[in-house]
Amino acid sequence: MIIAVDGPTASGKGTIAKALAAHFGLAYLDTGLLYRAVGRQVQLSGGDPDNPVHALAACDFPDELLEDEALRSEEVGGLASRVSIHPDVRAALFERQRAFAQQPGGALLDGRDIGTIIAPDADVKLFITASVQARAQRRWMEMQGREIDIPLTEIEQDVVARDDRDINRKDAPLRAAADALVIDTTSLGKEQAIQAAIDAVKSALS
Ligand code: C5P
Repeated sequence: MIIAVDGPTASGKGTIAKALAAHFGLAYLDTGLLYRAVGRQVQLSGGDPDNPVHALAACDFPDELLEDEALRSEEVGGLASRVSIHPDVRAALFERQRAFAQQPGGALLDGRDIGTIIAPDADVKLFITASVQARAQRRWMEMQGREIDIPLTEIEQDVVARDDRDINRKDAPLRAAADALVIDTTSLGKEQAIQAAIDAVKSALS
């Protein structure tokens, strides 16, 4: 079984995806981490994330980079969204994601284009969303928890900029697959959102 979980930044899709993978016993891949690693690699090598040649070269990042704490930062999230615009970068990461999706035993992947490009054949597709304000607030709380002090307004601007790049890029833009079940987590707590997703998967499978 393949479950695809897509949605914009800070929609709760990562939390939901991890919980669903554990609940249904599926291998889990956070595909955003791959784009973050490319963004981080460009940064480490002093390249320009907006340059497609530099970004493509960074797709050869060493696997250890996936463990780098810095990948979780806002800054690297922004770099990831810039390198992810380049079609060559998306193509370079395609096979890795596709192979993960097709492994025996099933898999759950979360990202922006799982239900549309990486696994259009997924058994269940979820699209997790929430208002910009709710997503910025969550990101801000998460940052506070990690003792990173960024003003809420700055995070809100970043969320809007990331949405804009993800939705309006030509290649694999962020959008719900026609057959995706949409879950709006704006007014849901963490446990409620997870339960709504479990219920949605069960009803899609029955
Ligand atoms: O999900 P996360 O915030 O870690 O993703 C970082 C960036 O990577 C996103 O803003 C998006 O631009 C890009 N991305 C993508 N396709 C995916 C996963 C992430 O373009 N499947």
